[in-house]
Amino acid sequence: MELFVDTHAHLDFDLFDEDREIVIQRAIKNGVAAIITIGVDVESSKKAVELAEKYATVFAAVGIHPTECADIPDRDFDLIEELANHEKVVAIGEVGLDYYHMRAPKEIQKNVFLYQVHFAEKLGLPLIIHNREAHEDIYDLIKSKNISEIGGVLHSFSGEISFLEKILLTDFYISFTGNITFKNSKSEELVKETPLERLLLETDSPFLTPVPLRGKRNEPGFIIHSAKKIAEIKQIEVEELGEITTENAKRLFKKLDI
Ligand SMILES: [Zn+2]
Repeated sequence: MELFVDTHAHLDFDLFDEDREIVIQRAIKNGVAAIITIGVDVESSKKAVELAEKYATVFAAVGIHPTECADIPDRDFDLIEELANHEKVVAIGEVGLDYYHMRAPKEIQKNVFLYQVHFAEKLGLPLIIHNREAHEDIYDLIKSKNISEIGGVLHSFSGEISFLEKILLTDFYISFTGNITFKNSKSEELVKETPLERLLLETDSPFLTPVPLRGKRNEPGFIIHSAKKIAEIKQIEVEELGEITTENAKRLFKKLDI
C-alpha cells in the first residue's frame, strides 16, 4: 500500500532524534511512499541530504527559510547551491517571505529569496514556498516570468479565497497541512476551490498535528488524517486522492524517483 507523498516534513529537527528511524518505518507502514524533508538553513539542509542518502523513502529540499535569513554569509549560499546538486534534492526550499515573525527586513527577505531562485532556475528545481502574511509580495514575485516558469508549491496554504484564486492563475501547486482537520477550519473552502490536479499533501511535521492526534508531535505517518479530510471535502475515495496527489508530486518534483 503506497498512497501518499508527504511533500513537506522537517525530519532533521531534534524532536525526531530519539526515534527518527521508527518514524520513517511507521510512515511507510501507513502508506507513505516518499517523504520530502525540508531544510531551513545550511545546517538543516545538510542534514536533510544526509537523511535522503540514508533512507530510500526520504528525499530532500535545501534552502534558507525567511525566518533564518538575517545576516547570511555568502558562503552559505554557495553551500546551498552545492547541496542542491545532489541527486536526491528535488526542490529549493523552504524559501519565501514571513512578515509575521519579521526576523529580517522585507527587502532582505526578498533578496535572499531571489538569490535562491537563481539556483532553482539554474538546476531546474521547483520552489517550496513559505508565505506568512506576505500575500501581495509573494504573488508579485511568483507571477514574474522567470519564477512562474520555475514553478513550485505554496506550502501550508493560508489566505482568503481571493488570494487563492490569484495563485491558481499561475502554475503553482497548493498544499494543506493537518490544520485542515481542525474544527471550524477556514481551509475547507480553500480546499473546495483548489482543483485536484493542483493539490499536494504534506504534514509539516513536527508541527500542525491533525485531529485526533492534536497536541502530539506530528509525523509523516499521520498524513492519513488530513488526506481523509481532503478526500471527504472533495467527495472522492482517499485512495483516489492519494493517486492524484502522488502524480501531482511526481509532475512537480521531477527528481522524485518513486
Ligand atoms: Zn516547513
